[in-house]
Amino acid sequence: MGYKYTCDERLFEPHKLTPERAYIVGVAWADGYLGKQGLRITSSDVDWLRALPDIGGFTAPIYARKNSNAADLVINNKALIPVLSKYGFHNRKSITGAPSNIPSCLISHFMRGVFDGDGSVWSERAQLRVYIAGNEQSVEWYKSVIPSGNDFFVVSRSGDSGRISGRSITNNHYCRVLQSRNSVAAESFLKWVYRDSDGARLERKYNRFVSFTERKGAYYSMVCPVCSEPFERRSSTDVYCAVCARVRLRLCNRRAYHMRRNPETASNDVNDYRTKDELDLFFPPARLYGSRSRKNQKLLEGIKAAVEASQC
Ligand SMILES: [Zn+2]
Repeated sequence: MGYKYTCDERLFEPHKLTPERAYIVGVAWADGYLGKQGLRITSSDVDWLRALPDIGGFTAPIYARKNSNAADLVINNKALIPVLSKYGFHNRKSITGAPSNIPSCLISHFMRGVFDGDGSVWSERAQLRVYIAGNEQSVEWYKSVIPSGNDFFVVSRSGDSGRISGRSITNNHYCRVLQSRNSVAAESFLKWVYRDSDGARLERKYNRFVSFTERKGAYYSMVCPVCSEPFERRSSTDVYCAVCARVRLRLCNRRAYHMRRNPETASNDVNDYRTKDELDLFFPPARLYGSRSRKNQKLLEGIKAAVEASQC
């Protein structure tokens, strides 16, 4: 038996790491086991597992498991053990220990590997959540290297067994889950890990991010009912474009300004502080929204200018 499969351990030396191989190291950190013979990576995404050797520039066999839909990628190379140890690998890393010595310019690629191995993404409408499982030290390390890490928090999943990215995690009180606090943090994390990721990522998860981005785009793109300009709303409660929202707010405040200066002469009816044109444009009955004639556009410009020029 010659060497049918070859994986040159020197490829994984810190100074030889490429984005692709940093990705493999991340996958190995999440889904791998470093034993006496070398490295074994286990996953139920078999096609993705099959593509990993090509991505990393080595060859290795894949063995399908009986009685389960998972498979093992097996790299029998003892010389790989001291090399991977430099990154903090050891045979009990599911229980303790954090990654180390990952070149800082490759951390996003390493983290994409970790995410593809131990992470999952949930999305609905314009909401997005990211979860990454790992031991306590690892998830704290993830939190510290993720640019939006301050908006992530660690959940302890002790005792209960659940499923993360299709793999059951029965293992115990060592498992923690790093979770995004809000959609902004989750999106910024995924943007970060997917930068320059062509060819080295799990498409199943990536596609979920892409469809989130599309849905979010549709959810946030609006047409201003006053000026008919398209705009991106910044929150789900935005209705008017930034300019019209400002003008409308100032119209709403006119009575308050009067009240503050001359309370005795202020009217109780806010509409007393709006001209008919302003009422038609900014406070019309709902059915008129969206139908803006050229005449109204001119009017709008006039009102905007007047409001800008005046105090309120
Ligand atoms: Zn507008």
